[in-house]
Amino acid sequence: MRRYRQAKIICTLGPKTERPEVIEKLFESGADVFRLNFSHGEREDHAKRISAIRALEKKFSRPVAILTDLQGPKLRVGNFENGSANLEKGNSFRFDLDRHPGNHTRICLPHPEIFGALYEGTTILLDDGKLSLTVEEAGKDYAITKITVGGIISDRKGVNIPNAVLPITAITDKDRSDLEFALDQEVDYIGLSFIQRPADIREARKLIGNRALIMSKLEKPSSIDHLDDIVAMSDAIMVARGDLGVEMPTEDVPILQRRIIRACRKHGKPVVVATQMLESMISSPRPTRAEASDVATAVYDQADAVMLSAETAVGSYPIEAVRIMERIIGRVERDPIFWDRGGSSDTTPEATTADAITAAARQVAETVSAAVIVTYTTSGSTSIRAARERPTVPILCVTEHVRTARRLAVVWGVQCVIAEDAKDFASMIDEARLLAQSFEFASPGQPLVVTAGVPFGTPGATNVLRIELLDS
Ligand code: PGA
Ligand code: MN
Repeated sequence: MRRYRQAKIICTLGPKTERPEVIEKLFESGADVFRLNFSHGEREDHAKRISAIRALEKKFSRPVAILTDLQGPKLRVGNFENGSANLEKGNSFRFDLDRHPGNHTRICLPHPEIFGALYEGTTILLDDGKLSLTVEEAGKDYAITKITVGGIISDRKGVNIPNAVLPITAITDKDRSDLEFALDQEVDYIGLSFIQRPADIREARKLIGNRALIMSKLEKPSSIDHLDDIVAMSDAIMVARGDLGVEMPTEDVPILQRRIIRACRKHGKPVVVATQMLESMISSPRPTRAEASDVATAVYDQADAVMLSAETAVGSYPIEAVRIMERIIGRVERDPIFWDRGGSSDTTPEATTADAITAAARQVAETVSAAVIVTYTTSGSTSIRAARERPTVPILCVTEHVRTARRLAVVWGVQCVIAEDAKDFASMIDEARLLAQSFEFASPGQPLVVTAGVPFGTPGATNVLRIELLDS
């Protein structure tokens, strides 16, 4: 079952998309990657979803990636006497470590490490930035603030402290135990939330090893300060616009989206644009024009994938949301302006044989109007390199490793088939011809471009480029 578009779709699963039939429908409608958010839901429900995804992957013979997001060090206030309190602008409000229920004058902020990072003038945001307070005095276990934007605040609401670099680890105890579960389930990507610095990724890598890939979620100002290093150290990046838009001014979000995508394109790392893409579809069967334009913009900007969160997790129109996303992507990719780059790629190949071959593959494919570029890959790196060139034709990746095939589901333009490694060059070419036709990437009479590494089975050894004409 091939897709007729290049940018990928990630769907978050939740209470509204629990049943295997619904997950299958999402997949048939266009979901390439499923995301499980460990900030919500029970472990056994996540396990059920994972087995439903693996079952449909088998049924359709199409590799699917699973991304599990760790909650990360999300700060939350404690509970209130009456479940909530009204904070009035201009009044004083205290944060401390006292576990007793709070009220309109104080609340517990059960994260002892952060008080030391607060100074006079530090901004504290509550409930996705709806309420704002300014620190007037901070001690080692308390902070006295002035309420600058008031409102109602209820139990366990989120706390953002945008401009402080917090001395907290990116991986909490809950995350460690969720991570163990996720790795046991053989998920493909681990989403790291609220990372602040390169050391956070090093720490995660130590725990994860090569059992899964790391998708770093950029949602803190300090992660933007280290953008280049974080992109270089991660396997994939998410522009996590939800929290990013709380921690940074709203008008910065579109600018950062472009900056992050550009950094990822430079490093050849897959990049996902996430959050509120079709937000109104949580309760409406049609998106707003602005939302359609937002999805289109991410595609024009060269994102590898666009993501649905609440739309498919808790929304009333999950299937419709995927269908509309699919249509918007397909429409942009039929626009000549999308491909208009004066005959060159917008990235510079690195001085390696593999990059030279994949850059040439794009040019050759476009010159001979090839139907598809077939890449043989072990680790997936050749296919990612080929995708980085943004060729106008699809990339059919052939690999013998199911994990590689799944991981590539996030990558722009790459579709995978799992096949045993060919014995020799001639049988590889025969196989490429056969697969391209049987998976409907090419028809008789059309040329194919094939890249491979000879001898076979050495990762990163791509050194052959071949043009093949299918018999008509
Ligand atoms: P979340 O991450 O949905 O886990 O918060 C994405 C975002 O912040 O945009
Ligand atoms: Mn977030």
